[in-house]
Amino acid sequence: MSPRFFGSETYCFGDGGPAQGSTGSGGNHPIDEEQADSGDYITYYIDCNGDIDGSAVIDYNCGCILGNKGIQSCAQKVYLDTNTRQCLKDIKTKLEMLGMKNSSMSTGLISKVLNSLNLSTGRNFNAIITEGLIMSGAIAETTFTNNLNSWGPSGYVSQIKFNETYLNKSTDLKIAATMMHEYIHAYFDWNIYLIRSGQVGSDENFEKNYVLLFDKSGTPLPDSYGNAAQHEQIATSFVSEMATMLRNYAVSQNIALPVDTEFFKKMAWGGLKGTSLYKFAPNGTEYTLAAESGNGSATITQILNCKKL
Ligand SMILES: [Zn+2]
Repeated sequence: MSPRFFGSETYCFGDGGPAQGSTGSGGNHPIDEEQADSGDYITYYIDCNGDIDGSAVIDYNCGCILGNKGIQSCAQKVYLDTNTRQCLKDIKTKLEMLGMKNSSMSTGLISKVLNSLNLSTGRNFNAIITEGLIMSGAIAETTFTNNLNSWGPSGYVSQIKFNETYLNKSTDLKIAATMMHEYIHAYFDWNIYLIRSGQVGSDENFEKNYVLLFDKSGTPLPDSYGNAAQHEQIATSFVSEMATMLRNYAVSQNIALPVDTEFFKKMAWGGLKGTSLYKFAPNGTEYTLAAESGNGSATITQILNCKKL
């Protein structure tokens, strides 16, 4: 018969020998649990979120979840920081309803890419949407970074950070367009990381579909070119799909459609001013982008859900 252990028993550590009572038949007795109950020590448990006696746990697919972590499941790979304002949560949900998440609705390239993030076809992809103060003039930035909170098994996370200043003055449509744009950066960053580090799991045909991110030998362009290369690739591959999705978004939200038939195409050129293809953007693109960002005299679509009163 295997020895039995009770919480009231005390075991000693550090003597190099087996814990008292651990000899015997080698049955499945819970040695570790018993030792954690040692009455000789003040023992407490720190969960993966750093909380004493917290209930957060490490999930193989999505790292630390539950407890006070603010993440309930790993069904989604793009999380929202708990301090992020409601409009960003709403916009993400609405975009997902339009196909960012439901693979059966992926009718175009942008849906496919956004699905890749949300459905995590990219191995162990993790991203978080947050807000804060960033370089003035930038509406958002995406950083591929070491995961400081040990969040995700691979230790990396793409952080999509919205500029508070712009959240307070940009239209809903501008934020939605920006979210799509930043998702693509995150998608690129993640796949490039997997390729560079020799890991499996990058998207099928990634190198073939996004040749502008690689040099002639097939090596990913260095980070110093990364941003410019990614923008060239977005301008080449995504502008028209983004325009379509943004229009669908506006319709679904009852945002009055501007009379300008090129309006959504102009919006999709946001952030791509430095690219070689920008010359093909419709006339007046800059004016539209400035207005919708809140840099102009008046916004065009007028819905400002992100503005904090
Ligand atoms: Zn960009």
